[in-house]
Amino acid sequence: MFDVKQPLNYQASADLLKNKTILVTGASDGIGRAVALAYAKHGATVILHGRSVEKLEAVYDQIIQQGSAKPAIVPLDLAKASLPQYQELAQVIESDLGKLDGILHNAGIISELSPIEYTDAAIWHEMMQVNINSVFMLTQSCLLLLKQSSAASIITTSSGVARKGRAFWGPYSVSKFAIEGFTQILADELEKTCVRINAINPGATRTKMRAIPYPAEDVSKLMTPDDLVPLYLYLMGNDSLDVNGQSIDAQPK
Ligand code: NAP
Repeated sequence: MFDVKQPLNYQASADLLKNKTILVTGASDGIGRAVALAYAKHGATVILHGRSVEKLEAVYDQIIQQGSAKPAIVPLDLAKASLPQYQELAQVIESDLGKLDGILHNAGIISELSPIEYTDAAIWHEMMQVNINSVFMLTQSCLLLLKQSSAASIITTSSGVARKGRAFWGPYSVSKFAIEGFTQILADELEKTCVRINAINPGATRTKMRAIPYPAEDVSKLMTPDDLVPLYLYLMGNDSLDVNGQSIDAQPK
């Protein structure tokens, strides 16, 4: 059973993701790493995306050590990649793995908080490139493949600053507002297909990203990436087949 008011209480069956091939972006660290390990543990063949091959190889080794299916590694710097590289990535997935049943768009960046008046344009552009433009290009490149799945799930990553603007959160907040819009629009377009798309707002989570806007915080009070895993399992597995176009808080108030 899934309860949107207590999303982290969901209990996934051990083989929830058996026979599924799932791409996780930003799988080298933080939430993406924890979720990739969990997806593999629940039976998926996981495609690990990130920019550091060394960090991805460490996750790869952990997946092998836990006895899960052999993953794949696809390094790509989202700040620099353009459409042909995303199309090539989709082709590699199709030729090497034969199918794709899900994408978790998790990779993201933030900068130190700053008023829009003083925000560096280069930082603004990089954040849009990584946090939203890559989501558009990767999704578009993979949609044909996802439509060949019997039931495909796309998860995007939102934020608490994606629904109401807050001073000094500038480009990060704007990019996450865009994620919410992208998710709603694509969900509407995919309504009659086998592909669904939903957003997760992780809430405050103990990662290296969180420490940038909150450097002095007592991290012992924060949820860990592992704590959030149940919601990511729910939206990726077939228990959520009827859920489309939602934006779900991992830590509802
Ligand atoms: P994190 O620990 O900093 O991990 C971010 C991941 O994205 C890493 O794997 C990182 O790779 C990858 N990445 C960053 N820039 C990239 C690029 N240019 N190309 C390819 N990969 C790149 O962050 P996190 O806290 O787990 O955040 C995950 C998602 O949750 C983000 O979308 C974030 O906005 C969202 N979120 C987080 C919180 C929170 O409190 N932590 C709250 C709300 C929303 P490297 O290992 O190479 O750095």
